[in-house]
Amino acid sequence: MRLDAFSRANDLTLVCAACRGPALADFVRYCPVRAGDEALFRDLPGITISRRPAPDDGFMACYRPVPGAPDLRDRVLPGTYGYADRAFSLHSSDAVLTCLRCGTVQTRAVSLPEEYFYQVEYRGKPLRAGSRAQAQDLLAFIDGNDRRRKPWKDYTTQQGASFLSRIPTHFLTAKARDIIVKRLRNRLDEGAA
Ligand SMILES: [Zn+2]
Repeated sequence: MRLDAFSRANDLTLVCAACRGPALADFVRYCPVRAGDEALFRDLPGITISRRPAPDDGFMACYRPVPGAPDLRDRVLPGTYGYADRAFSLHSSDAVLTCLRCGTVQTRAVSLPEEYFYQVEYRGKPLRAGSRAQAQDLLAFIDGNDRRRKPWKDYTTQQGASFLSRIPTHFLTAKARDIIVKRLRNRLDEGAA
């Protein structure tokens, strides 16, 4: 797993509790395991057995995405559990935060979207983006000439406009534009770590 603001531009970025810098957040994930299958999961690297209750007297296997933990992608679980990436589909509110600036790694419950790193304030209201790429889209949109027209697609992903089409008009006035553009640029500079 590479750790820099650019190779993981599409990933959730929150505020580091230690230095207020940009921290990549990866959610702790769980996989419900049937009673009796515990042994299958016992020695899998990066996976632990949790005490969380699971349906039918089973248990939950837990994957903690700390730096250096084996990736779940392309990994096949024993028995009938299939691809690890799909089996570990239950996200919790606990995330592993890895700071791009000071290197602190912390596992804790996070609140979204309040803890987004890429957020700026304009007249008492927050304008937020979950990732660096979204913040760049936001900047391109507000700085661009078509700011008053609701976009039909996102600039980067080229997919159907998600969050850009839901920006409140509070942030789209001519008055707001310069201030927001400046604040977003500053935030993107800070986020480059
Ligand atoms: Zn930090």
